[in-house]
Amino acid sequence: MEEFDNNLPGTFSLLVKPASADCNLCCDYCFYLDRSSLYPETKVHRMSDSVLERMISSYMATRQHTYSFGWQGGEPTLMGVEFLKKVTELQKKYGRQGAIVSNGLQTNATLIDDELAAHLSKYRFLVGVSIDGPAEIHNRYRQYADGRGSHAAVLRGIECLNRHNVEFNALVLVSSANIKKAIIVYNYLRNHGINYHQYIPCVEFDNFGQPLPYSIAAKEWGDFLCEIFDEWIIKDRHKVSIRLFDAILGYMVDRRYSMCTQGGNCRQYFLVEYNGDVYPCDFFVERHTKLGNIMKNNWKEVGGSSRYRSFGNKKADWNSLCSCCDYLEFCSGDCLRHRVYRGETPNTLSWLCEGWKKFYAHNIPSFQKIALSILNERQLSLPSAQRKFYDTLPRIRIGWNDPCYCGSGRKYRLCHGAAKGKNKQVSR
Ligand code: SF4
Ligand code: SF4
Ligand code: SF4
Repeated sequence: MEEFDNNLPGTFSLLVKPASADCNLCCDYCFYLDRSSLYPETKVHRMSDSVLERMISSYMATRQHTYSFGWQGGEPTLMGVEFLKKVTELQKKYGRQGAIVSNGLQTNATLIDDELAAHLSKYRFLVGVSIDGPAEIHNRYRQYADGRGSHAAVLRGIECLNRHNVEFNALVLVSSANIKKAIIVYNYLRNHGINYHQYIPCVEFDNFGQPLPYSIAAKEWGDFLCEIFDEWIIKDRHKVSIRLFDAILGYMVDRRYSMCTQGGNCRQYFLVEYNGDVYPCDFFVERHTKLGNIMKNNWKEVGGSSRYRSFGNKKADWNSLCSCCDYLEFCSGDCLRHRVYRGETPNTLSWLCEGWKKFYAHNIPSFQKIALSILNERQLSLPSAQRKFYDTLPRIRIGWNDPCYCGSGRKYRLCHGAAKGKNKQVSR
């Protein structure tokens, strides 16, 4: 069995681009379409059976609690249902008995038909559907190459998923088309029975460093999130799951980061392109970030490369203002993508910083109350003997010179501890 180097994160997941950047849509703000320039050898990019088998077999030979595959693009459904059938067959072939396998599929949903939906349902794929709100908002940027909007086709795909009881979440790209329409978008999803939401900020620049017309500003982002939060907390706290909110609560309750943007390093997953090339992150698929190719290199080689370490370490090289920010433990300086967008160094303050601060200042006290109620409910659900034991558990303490919990590899005092000011130890 190929073991992953213990000096690296013990677990890792795969984000796979089986059709590379190929897509049947041509959304104005797509950040991945131009990645096809890395692979000019062919116009149509499709993962071969040999690359697929090598990727699955080698990954499933590593030790993981969960073998986690995210299928993305471009548009992964261009591969057709036969490809996904091969995927699940190979996972069965190479999975040890009892192995837990998780498959996620991020799609524009326009190509989903009954056969595909039935397969996604049978194997419990976690599906993410890109939809930006009602037609007049969605069609502004999510279009076919001939300019037709894609909203009607997305709804047809969603109907198919519903017919086959496939649970899915909505991925909403928050751009200039919907940044001022938070409640309209939120209620549109709710009215369509969509209870899992993910909101992603659209921040893109031209070659001269100017924000592109669909990009949003930091303050707008803060306002958008606050409006969504206010609507959610009043009406839907127990009914609707919003990924960012879940991640904040998950951190408060269990002290675990569930989104890579929260953590102190960018060594969270590997991206595998159609031909087996491996990169460290979806947003940094570039010639100089390539880590290797799974047909030639094993996971230890790509994960142990100095290029991967150096990329991962950039996350904790945040701005000095972050080191004394009250929200560092939630934000960790924000995603690198919002810091090095114009070729800046990683210690540039995030483009969205002002928005994040507004959101956290407005909502952290409410999140803290919810987290407390979750902890209380959890404790009350224990049998009384266990509850007494739980009460007497010592709080975990982090020493000033201990490694920081965020995974940056730095001492706590030089990492998230710096924001705690003079306190030399904190309870967690
Ligand atoms: S559907 Fe997704 S991959 Fe396709 S063009 Fe739009 S944003 Fe890009
Ligand atoms: S750059 Fe952003 S998206 Fe990529 S791994 Fe780091 S935090 Fe995650
Ligand atoms: S909110 Fe701003 S200052 Fe605070 S950690 Fe995030 S990016 Fe840094």
